[in-house]
Amino acid sequence: MQIKADLHVHTTYSKDSLITPKDLVHYAKKCGLNAVAVTDHNQLEGAFKIAKETDFLIIPGMEVSSSDGHIVALNVKELIPRGLNATETVKRIHKAGGIAIACHPYASFKGSLKENICETFDAIEIINARAFPFKKSVKKATQTALRFGLSQVAGTDAHYGPQIGYGYTIIEATEPSVEAITKAILEGHCQPFGQPVPFTLNFMQEFKRLERMVKKNQ
Ligand SMILES: [Zn+2]
Ligand SMILES: [Zn+2]
Repeated sequence: MQIKADLHVHTTYSKDSLITPKDLVHYAKKCGLNAVAVTDHNQLEGAFKIAKETDFLIIPGMEVSSSDGHIVALNVKELIPRGLNATETVKRIHKAGGIAIACHPYASFKGSLKENICETFDAIEIINARAFPFKKSVKKATQTALRFGLSQVAGTDAHYGPQIGYGYTIIEATEPSVEAITKAILEGHCQPFGQPVPFTLNFMQEFKRLERMVKKNQ
């Protein structure tokens, strides 16, 4: 069966995101997704909590800040520490039962891996809907995926509800479960799709974030 999933979304468990668990499910359903990966910065607890509280298919994960750049870990059973190099981080992800994705590998201003990708990664985020410059990032990521023979995925890197779904992966899985989805990605039964998040939505995200800061300080 085909699963349409946004594999890179931050919730309010990441300090810089505005997406509440309720928003997450609302917008994921609204744009026709069947699953969404929760990939908060250096934490995993929120993802498990959200997965337990909803019947929408949540793929628990995290975005690890390795010393070489950001790495998305999906389906890990334990927290992966930040600050290790890319090779060691990927090793830990595998040990924790998960798959390692080189996210936004060539995007500017994002803590990207650039040339630190190696063949031990399981997949490359070809499309990150908030990568800049967009076209160049997609092209370079595709070349790297082909060079190492890695699976190709996509996600939005959403930090604001209406951004969800601009980047998505179509996965051919045997059933709608986290295990089946990650196995299918590992085997390359997936395809990346998407378009850049419109400027207006990124602007709204910044505006809402400032608004939240002002409210907190009042
Ligand atoms: Zn990142
Ligand atoms: Zn991210």
